[in-house]
Amino acid sequence: MCGIIGYTGRQNAIPKITAGLSVLEYRGYDSAGLAAAGNGRITTIKCCGRVKDLEEKLRQTEEIITTCAIGHTRWATHGGVTDRNAHPHTVGYVTLVHNGIIENEKEWRERLTLDGYHFSSETDTEVAAALLNRAYQKTKDPLQAIYGVLEILRGSYAFAMIFADRTDEIYAVRQDSPLLIAQGEDGCYLASDLTALVSYASTYCVPDEGVVVRLNQDGIFLCYKDGTQKEPIYQQSGMQHAAAERGGYDTFMKKEICEQPQALRAALNGREAEGLPDFSINALPTDFFDNVHRIHIVACGSAMHAGLLGARLLERDTGIPTTIFIASEYRYHMPPKEEGTLLIAISQSGETADTLAALRAAKARGIPVLAIVNAENTAIAREAAHVLYTHAGPEIAVATTKGYCTQVALLWMISLFLSNRRKTIAQDTIKERLAFLKESAPKAISAVIARESELSHIAERLDGHDRLFYIGRGRDYALAAEGSLKLKEISYVHSEAYAAGELKHGTISLIEPGTPVIAFCTEDALAEKMLSNVREVASRGASVTVLCKASLSSLFLQSAVVFPLDCENDETAVFAMMTAMQLIAYETARRRGCDVDKPRNLAKSVTVE
Ligand code: GLU
Repeated sequence: MCGIIGYTGRQNAIPKITAGLSVLEYRGYDSAGLAAAGNGRITTIKCCGRVKDLEEKLRQTEEIITTCAIGHTRWATHGGVTDRNAHPHTVGYVTLVHNGIIENEKEWRERLTLDGYHFSSETDTEVAAALLNRAYQKTKDPLQAIYGVLEILRGSYAFAMIFADRTDEIYAVRQDSPLLIAQGEDGCYLASDLTALVSYASTYCVPDEGVVVRLNQDGIFLCYKDGTQKEPIYQQSGMQHAAAERGGYDTFMKKEICEQPQALRAALNGREAEGLPDFSINALPTDFFDNVHRIHIVACGSAMHAGLLGARLLERDTGIPTTIFIASEYRYHMPPKEEGTLLIAISQSGETADTLAALRAAKARGIPVLAIVNAENTAIAREAAHVLYTHAGPEIAVATTKGYCTQVALLWMISLFLSNRRKTIAQDTIKERLAFLKESAPKAISAVIARESELSHIAERLDGHDRLFYIGRGRDYALAAEGSLKLKEISYVHSEAYAAGELKHGTISLIEPGTPVIAFCTEDALAEKMLSNVREVASRGASVTVLCKASLSSLFLQSAVVFPLDCENDETAVFAMMTAMQLIAYETARRRGCDVDKPRNLAKSVTVE
């Protein structure tokens, strides 16, 4: 959450900061701001709203030309969305931007107030700025001041800081929040994620937690507490510049839905030997899973729904008991310790604070962790014993699509890998299923995308309604959970996903004439039971839409509007269904005039707990 960018070098910093903020805006978009340093003074411009509002404000101000600046897009945690709470914050000598939460801010706010300090914002960030200024006034040494303040702050942070009497250098430090540094041809950069750096540098470094970084005209230095300093060791970035651009699409979400066939192929690419799943390219030892008798999956939001689906596949195909946990709950209620437990942590951004905390709690108990992550070299990827990257490419829309799709694909691969290892499924069947995943599933996704206008008619059926239900059984319930979340997050229509058989145990009382119900059915064995559930709601007046395998459509035609999916097997059914439900959510949000890529109150990469 929140995007941070900094530049110091030989060129005008302002266009670089605003361009970086636009790229990072998906991380938080409550407000935006920048501080331009140079010629011995610091000018701060900030406002509520989007980066374009900041740019407008800049246009109305006398042109600022500077070679050193920092910028921020906010996702408010402490204090409302106001101009005053927007970053950067300045106290005395110190101007800073912050990503994260200072957990002991209340204590320090009270102490500083008693000492006579008047706060001008409600943010925890200003507390950090005030402490830093106090320390800097005493020492006039940035490193000593920063290290001193870090000792008394608790929480998560990435800070980028400028001192009023050193206006050509930026200091930065991180703890449990992302921060990357890169040396470009024309100067030094820092940012919250790679997407903002790829146009300036092909290599980057993630500084260790708690190590202060100094960026100035001489370069970038890691400055240690003991006074030593080192040059960073950079690594090659795997991200293509154009990958983080909209490329002709109206929205990133639409682009990312349409990229799913290639994302799915990329996720499976190279992870195969003689037609069977193989992870040796990821240095995952062949016997890695051999002592695993229980699997815990931890994740949040859509990744948790991918886990819900994956858990069903794993249990069905491998017989290994698999439980999905909401990451934010897991660490406070860990199941009893059991030998042979493996934790699978799933996160698109690799930064999700709740998932990271669950991962650390598991590690502390000696549980090995396998991570499924999209963004390279992020905290979850680094801290897990092994990581399988989904290779979906940068995902910019806040609501995940290709990220979720590739997470499901990898869980499926793990399930097939384990089925082969444990011989729970015949090898020929495994080969056939892998081929379906690799070849048929991407085509099934494309086929659904080609029917977008039909799905738009289904979205039209939701016009004028502000609540609905998604129902499904078995893996269709897991898909319905994601379909419902997708709709809620981008169209603000309240929907609930129910296991179809469960609705009658209470919630069916909410069905009234006209209530929309969207039912998913891709499992032959559950089709008749689903029909009963569809009839139950239809006979109470619900307006039912069924998305099902084409071979099952005749079953539902009398009770519902049917959208048949051309899919012959489990693999194509799941990927076709997920694409259809993503497009229904997308079309609904568009019909309602919502900002599809940046839904209200949300941000990508939830780096706070
Ligand atoms: N806690 C800070 C605030 O509320 C930073 C939030 C962020 O990461 O955007 O301003």
